Amino acid sequence: MGAHNEKGGFVPPLAEKLVWQCAGCQTFNSTKVTKCKKCGADKPAKK
Ligand SMILES: [Zn+2]
Repeated sequence: MGAHNEKGGFVPPLAEKLVWQCAGCQTFNSTKVTKCKKCGADKPAKK
């Protein structure tokens, strides 16, 4: 019985490429938009 799942991590890396989280209201927005759908804040610059 050596099987084990590797489901660690809160947010899958793939999700980070599809959405971005607003620093102001923590809302997740699609990467297709550059402003938060909730508060209108600009998408944070990519590192
Ligand atoms: Zn926001």
